[in-house]
Amino acid sequence: MLEHFSITQLNMYLRCPAQYGFRYVDGLILPPTGALTKGRVVHKGAEHNYRQKAKTQQDVSLEEIRDVTAAAFDKEAEGTAWEKEEDKGRTKDEALMLASLYHQEIASKVQPLFIEHEFIIPTAAGVPLLGYIDVIDDQFIIRDIKTASKAPAGSEAAKSLQLTAYAYAFRELVGREETAVALDYLVQTKQPKAVLLKAKRTQADIDRLLSIMQSVLTAIKGGNFYPNPGNFMCSAKACGYWERCHQKFGGISV
Ligand code: SF4
Repeated sequence: MLEHFSITQLNMYLRCPAQYGFRYVDGLILPPTGALTKGRVVHKGAEHNYRQKAKTQQDVSLEEIRDVTAAAFDKEAEGTAWEKEEDKGRTKDEALMLASLYHQEIASKVQPLFIEHEFIIPTAAGVPLLGYIDVIDDQFIIRDIKTASKAPAGSEAAKSLQLTAYAYAFRELVGREETAVALDYLVQTKQPKAVLLKAKRTQADIDRLLSIMQSVLTAIKGGNFYPNPGNFMCSAKACGYWERCHQKFGGISV
């Protein structure tokens, strides 16, 4: 019986039930990839700035954000599963570049009220929803920082189940509607850029999320952990369960 359910779990099941089974039923936790570590340490730098700014109303210096990001990288690089073609030094440089971009393009526009706010709220599915909201700003906009190597689709904030869950949590906890939900994207293209994607949520969006969650939990309780080879992460490079999946479900692992 699940004690709680997160949006990460929900999204993983929707992407590939077999992947969910390997991770959450068999308990096979994979070390983060270089790309994941890069995103995490950029978050750490931004979180450090927001925690200070909530108290002082001032952004910390660029140097301080870069120092926090660099220290987080040095710590997390140890436990990262580096691919042959990945270069640790280059990844660190990219993380620092994204941290600088955050400082230049995003930090000054956000006055945080709540940072890394944990929520655990009951759902009709019988399993509470657990999560952490990156930032709620003083305009009651729920924000999440993302890093990417290409520009996101314009509809991403509108379609994000993660942001719907945050809106639901916000309403349950604060007792009013949020102003908007937003993704602050740091995009590492040739010309790095920050992209803000904003959207609204309705009660119908939240009801739909809870209905999806209930269906997924029913499928999980029924032991349905089938592979979905059509999903965008299904490759030997992107899925750490590739070998195991092909041993279990057949097919040639190339
Ligand atoms: S190899 Fe593909 S089908 Fe198998 S678990 Fe990974 S993503 Fe799912």
